[in-house]
Amino acid sequence: MPSEPAQSEFSLIDALHAHMRVVRSDVCVPTGDDAAIIEPPAGHRIAVSTDTLVAGVHFPTDTPAHAIGYKALAVNISDMSAMGAESAWVSLSLAMPSNEAEFINGFAQGFAELAGEHGIQLIGGDTTYASTLTITVNIMGLIPDGVAPLTRAGAQLGDDIYVSGQLGGAGHELDNLMAFAPEQRMALNYPSSNTELGISLRSLARSCIDVSDGLLGDIGHILKASSSACDQPLGAHIQLDQLPLHTHIQEYANPDRAWAFALYAGDEYQLCFTAPESKRDALDALAQQYTITRIGTVVERDATAITLSDGVEAVDVARLTRHIQPYAHF
Ligand code: ADP
Ligand code: MG
Repeated sequence: MPSEPAQSEFSLIDALHAHMRVVRSDVCVPTGDDAAIIEPPAGHRIAVSTDTLVAGVHFPTDTPAHAIGYKALAVNISDMSAMGAESAWVSLSLAMPSNEAEFINGFAQGFAELAGEHGIQLIGGDTTYASTLTITVNIMGLIPDGVAPLTRAGAQLGDDIYVSGQLGGAGHELDNLMAFAPEQRMALNYPSSNTELGISLRSLARSCIDVSDGLLGDIGHILKASSSACDQPLGAHIQLDQLPLHTHIQEYANPDRAWAFALYAGDEYQLCFTAPESKRDALDALAQQYTITRIGTVVERDATAITLSDGVEAVDVARLTRHIQPYAHF
């Protein structure tokens, strides 16, 4: 089927906005002018973050337009959630090799669907030609005054380590692209964004990060930031037998392979956080509402920052990395 004809930049922007439904009362000048103007509600601070997705790097090139739109926003909301912020406004930079109406409509629907669910308003952006489809989203969210920021730097010795959702699903799909039709890659295409969980964690967690580069790497970021903040070398001990494995990787015959995917696969967009033991009851109660699993402990740093055990004995990292190449951007 031939795709619909290309559009001018302006009708394309109109088409994009036609799908957006959220109108926030704090947006004084919406998209369409040289800049948008927002008036943040009193008593709040603003969290700001940017994430770029490049075709062939952050999603397979045959990913459906709807999924690209959804994912571009979801990974940005996930950053807000990891800070305990409630997403409010986004701007969108689209650099595209072609501007077919079919792509724009699918993209806008996926983007608008998630924006609508979260009450997020698109307040502007930029649209340009590029040889590779590249999407940059700038997101802003709100944190009430008086709420301590949920950062990577708050972990303390003895904290429990938790992760939300299930791990390894996106990694499994990426490793088996041929086995999943592009629209069937649900974990990869439609990551969770965990807004409500992030807000609940404001009063419970000491540190938090969203898992984008692989669980171990991201726990490493928490340890690094927290060690300098408390001036004490922190490490982590992870119980592999506690990891919440995605249904697909539970089927692996070799548990090492499943654990390797859960530990190293990027693109998971679950929240990893630490909390003191005194919050266990509250977190157990929260686990009635959200999938959250206690997977380890913050310990004094050993020769290796992160030690692993399978519930019985220590597990060597080299035993696991045979199964998957840890994710690296460059
Ligand atoms: P300028 O030349 O001032 O940069 P543009 O022609 O790039 O303006 O954009 C016109 C209006 O359309 C601006 O308000 C801008 O925010 C909005 N816009 C452009 N591209 C996008 C996009 N991809 N998503 C949302 N809004 C967009
Ligand atoms: Mg512009």
